Amino acid sequence: MNFHRAVIKVGSALVSPESNGCSGKYLLSIAQFITACQQAGKEIILVSSGSVAAGRQSIHHSSPIPSIQTKQAMGAVGQMKMMANWQRFFDQACGQLLITHGDLKDRQHYINIKNTIRILLANHVLPIVNENDTVASDEIKVGDNDNLAAQVALVSEADCLFILSDVDGVFDSDPRYNPDAALIPEIAEITEDIYAMAGCTHNPIATGGMKTKIQAAEKAIEYGITTYIVNGSKSEVFEHLLKGENPGTVFLAQQNTIGPARKHWLKHTLKSNGEIFLDQGAVKALSRNGASLLSSGIIDCKGSFIAGDAIDLVDPNNNRVIAKGICQYSQPELQQIKGVQSEEIFNILGYRPSKVIVHRDDMVIL
Ligand code: GLU
Repeated sequence: MNFHRAVIKVGSALVSPESNGCSGKYLLSIAQFITACQQAGKEIILVSSGSVAAGRQSIHHSSPIPSIQTKQAMGAVGQMKMMANWQRFFDQACGQLLITHGDLKDRQHYINIKNTIRILLANHVLPIVNENDTVASDEIKVGDNDNLAAQVALVSEADCLFILSDVDGVFDSDPRYNPDAALIPEIAEITEDIYAMAGCTHNPIATGGMKTKIQAAEKAIEYGITTYIVNGSKSEVFEHLLKGENPGTVFLAQQNTIGPARKHWLKHTLKSNGEIFLDQGAVKALSRNGASLLSSGIIDCKGSFIAGDAIDLVDPNNNRVIAKGICQYSQPELQQIKGVQSEEIFNILGYRPSKVIVHRDDMVIL
């Protein structure tokens, strides 16, 4: 398997095949796949749908298509059942992340999500993400977990996305009506024809269907994230994946990999809101040793920035900007902690959201 960190998205049809309550029927082989990936040194983040379906039987509803409010209440019940259901398949701890599109657009929330995932993975905890359905009204709703999974893949800097559902992949026509429909194993470019071929879902509990899966793939491959759509209800699919074979449809990542794409975005798109002046030890550690920036290496800072903003990292000896990065602290916070050891940050601020000031992954050397 040619990836380092993957997001695995599991659809409601697999978590709740009867559309009522949780089931372990398909989750065992998915969990075994996750464990096998981890044992091979890969990092996995799970995006799981199914809370609404899992909570369905606990909330009274007279119509087969419940109102948004009723679904939100179902989600509140089902989320706990779904998490408990996942946890029983793992020896490792699972961590729950409930996020909205609004969170992904908010710089501070975005960086909090990113840091949480980073720390969970470093502690061998399996992050399990779902949309925060209770608070997500239309404007802040991602709407479907396929697109949410693509965004989680970006935030977590994954290089692979697996979308598991109850279909084998993308077909050249609708296999339910055309017995000659053929599975398309590889898609190098997502065109209108691909969307047209994919048709849409008829599964009443599925939110997304094939269209949102292809949209998610489109977003992901643009950032260098190889995306698979595979049938998670067939255990042999996972055997193929573990052997490095493709049992469904793979969307090939565009040539620029996630690293360069993100760094390009950081370098060219994000505007710097301030400057951090480094001591010579930090200049050397950053430019030669690939280190993150620590508070001890900071002499001073200027500008008006908040955590999550881009800032320039400057060598004061020649006033050259040696790097650009995303700062984990605001300018007033940095003023208080410049020059101190990381261990001191908590004593000074009363909190320490991050040990480093600018993480290596969020930095581009110029
Ligand atoms: N967040 C919804 C749930 O857990 C699912 C959305 C989706 O499947 O796309 O039920």
